[in-house]
Amino acid sequence: MSQVALVTGGTRGIGAAVSKALAAAGYKVAANYAGNEAAAAEFSRSTGISVFQWNVADFDACRDGIKNVTAELGPIDVLVNNAGITRDSTLHKMSLEQWREVMATNLDSLFNMTRNVIEGMRARRFGRIINISSINGQKGQFGQANYAAAKAAALGFTKAVAHEGAALGITCNTICPGYIATEMVRAVPIETLRDKVLPQIPVGRLGEPEEVARCVLFLASADAGFITGATLTANGGQYMA
Ligand code: NDP
Repeated sequence: MSQVALVTGGTRGIGAAVSKALAAAGYKVAANYAGNEAAAAEFSRSTGISVFQWNVADFDACRDGIKNVTAELGPIDVLVNNAGITRDSTLHKMSLEQWREVMATNLDSLFNMTRNVIEGMRARRFGRIINISSINGQKGQFGQANYAAAKAAALGFTKAVAHEGAALGITCNTICPGYIATEMVRAVPIETLRDKVLPQIPVGRLGEPEEVARCVLFLASADAGFITGATLTANGGQYMA
């Protein structure tokens, strides 16, 4: 029987590529999104993948959303914590709201989502949890104290959950993408990309969402059962941790 995969932020960008790759590999996929109804509807229409709206920063909404997914598709075998936002500012100008929004969406979400699937995974003695962090959580980034802190915290979260799940067939891993061609990166001015970003990437180009999706597919697979607590970088050689 096919396994069930839930991808947060699964209707656009990297998440959309992940949802599609998992569906193509035979998983029953649920793609969560925040509020961009038009994008979600178009994604669902063009792929046939079920979409579910809720805010990953809200614990109760995650609990209820996961209940709905489970009722429609079955218990969740693979959780991809992908939803994320940026609210960039240098620290001396950063508002408490910018800090809290990024922490809530990028970090609290890991607890909100994983806490609500982990008991089922423990009971069924199988689970794959894949957290999408960032190169900027590994190396830091000017103007991203909030984002870098949340993404670095994901690495610690992953390792703790990996320890707890290891004997129960549950793996938990992090992927740290570098610059991937999505709307998040298209928000960076083209001159900055050309003059400052590309020269730092040894392979000389941005990554494609599908390249991150293939990393997820591998970590979700039975073949990756001995890999847990790991950080997989997909950054074109930009940062070699
Ligand atoms: P996009 O901005 O293209 O897409 C973000 C997705 O997340 C959308 O589906 C959006 O839903 C959803 N989302 C945002 N906030 C919430 C929320 N509160 N609750 C539920 N869903 C939410 O992002 P990317 O594809 O670029 O990034 C995906 C992940 O990869 C993020 O965690 C990001 O930090 C990380 N990353 C991205 C890199 C890049 O270069 N693009 C590099 C390194 C890491 P909706 O459509 O409704 O708004």
